[in-house]
Amino acid sequence: MAYVIIAVAFGIAGGIVGKLKGSSFLLWFLISAVVPFLGLVAAFAYRFERDELRRECPRCGKVTKIYDALCTRCGMEFDFPEVAIAPESWQRVPAPDSLPASRHT
Ligand SMILES: [Zn+2]
Repeated sequence: MAYVIIAVAFGIAGGIVGKLKGSSFLLWFLISAVVPFLGLVAAFAYRFERDELRRECPRCGKVTKIYDALCTRCGMEFDFPEVAIAPESWQRVPAPDSLPASRHT
């Protein structure tokens, strides 16, 4: 019985973390409830994954993480990228002019 309470608690925590990252609450609730500790860790790791800079494969156009040395789709080797793509998480940050003004002058 205690395990069920723990599983639900982790499920809710994982679900909230997943939701905050723009993913599905239900998805992360289930993952965290089934594998309580690992699910919660995965929910946090998912956030960091989304914060990584990305790059586009020059051959096939697949978007990969900037630290990848090989394209996972076509196998092309990458040089250090000249152009990075903003992390997925940046796309949900509001534009500066939509924030409340903080200057008084
Ligand atoms: Zn490729």
